[in-house]
Amino acid sequence: SVRAEIVSVGTELLLGQIVNTNAQFLSQGLAELGIDVYYQTVVGDNMERLLSAIELARSRADLIVFTGGLGPTLDDLTRDAVAAYLGRGIEIHEPTLRKIEEMFAGRGAFIESNRRQAMLVEGAVPLRNTTGLAVGNALSADGTHYLLLPGPPREMKPMFDNDATKWLKGLMGESASLHSVMLRFAGIGESALEDLLIDLIREQTDPTIAPYAKEGEVAVRVSTKADSIEEAARKMEGTLTEIRRRTDRFLYAEEDISLETAVMRLMMQQRRTFSLAESCTGGMVAEMVTSVPGSADVFMGGVVSYTNGVKMGLLGVPRELLEGEGAPGAVSGETAAAMAEGVRSAADSDFGVAVTGVAGPAQSEGKPVGLVYVGLAERDRPTTVEKLQLSGDREGIRIRASKRALYRLWL
Ligand code: ATP
Ligand code: MG
Repeated sequence: SVRAEIVSVGTELLLGQIVNTNAQFLSQGLAELGIDVYYQTVVGDNMERLLSAIELARSRADLIVFTGGLGPTLDDLTRDAVAAYLGRGIEIHEPTLRKIEEMFAGRGAFIESNRRQAMLVEGAVPLRNTTGLAVGNALSADGTHYLLLPGPPREMKPMFDNDATKWLKGLMGESASLHSVMLRFAGIGESALEDLLIDLIREQTDPTIAPYAKEGEVAVRVSTKADSIEEAARKMEGTLTEIRRRTDRFLYAEEDISLETAVMRLMMQQRRTFSLAESCTGGMVAEMVTSVPGSADVFMGGVVSYTNGVKMGLLGVPRELLEGEGAPGAVSGETAAAMAEGVRSAADSDFGVAVTGVAGPAQSEGKPVGLVYVGLAERDRPTTVEKLQLSGDREGIRIRASKRALYRLWL
């Protein structure tokens, strides 16, 4: 198999001025293609050190993926360094040069340095840049493959996903490519899910099982190398069946979609509607659901009832629940139920979901950080409340609480 090294080029990275998100993106993307990343290197905009980084990478990898240093300025050295290292010249990529000239036409100055962005290492395959100017480079020499990608993520990502991926697939041969299924889970934390699958994760070598944490959700990727989709399906069948059996109701999708997307699809299919009453999540659940296209058919609306006044005034939560000696308080099962019922009847929806809790950092009403109640009111059915003790910082708790609220609609 192919061993890769990612070389991120830029002094800004070494100074800690920017985070190396490109390395993460590329590591993930290469893994998905079945390419093993053995090393990640960061090097500044300096010719000598760039050359020694290339030398070192060549000694321990078959594929070197560069990101950064393809721009117009003199500190952008990646292309020159690779050419110098291989003893090759530089050529102009005419289509990119025309694109740059057109771009600057009518603006007066054509900055000569912009020509640099149309330059290729001699013999390299050009990789289209659909969101910027600098052309990418792909080439093979003496058994080592080189991929030169721009630094700005909005240019690098589409170039990687399109032309670079095509080139890499060509390198590896179309056969025996990596096939994978992403399983998405909700209502369960990362470590609890891992506990359910631990022996499979440890013992399984083909297919492989890799857990991922995603914003308040967890996912597991099951992958195998196979010549065809049918063969891959056959190889993964047993493992998938076993994971389904063990994870049961926590598994909400066998594709890479968010919980909100899955919930919205379900509601659309069933022609059901819902509304939201949010306290500690401050509208985050509404934001998640409205990010899904077509949400207007199923999501009626929501109330951000942050204060007791709004809980009483707009949602009809009884004063006795909120105020006075011995009242359950804003963060309580009783209040979550009343909020859910209040918003459901105000919106005349099939479901009403309410979230109230302590997001932190300080406790509230003498209740601990992370205590969250999720209420679910249904037309013609008794209201139910789920009590949760979530962990994390304020943002983490808010995200997890939002996902748990959505999960009530999934079940
Ligand atoms: P430009 O044409 O913008 O000069 P370039 O290909 O020369 O592009 P760099 O000069 O290395 O790339 O970086 C340009 C910008 O791209 C950086 O200021 C930074 O915002 C972003 N960037 C570069 N490398 C990375 C990285 N590894 N991770 C995340 N962002 C990056
Ligand atoms: Mg630059």
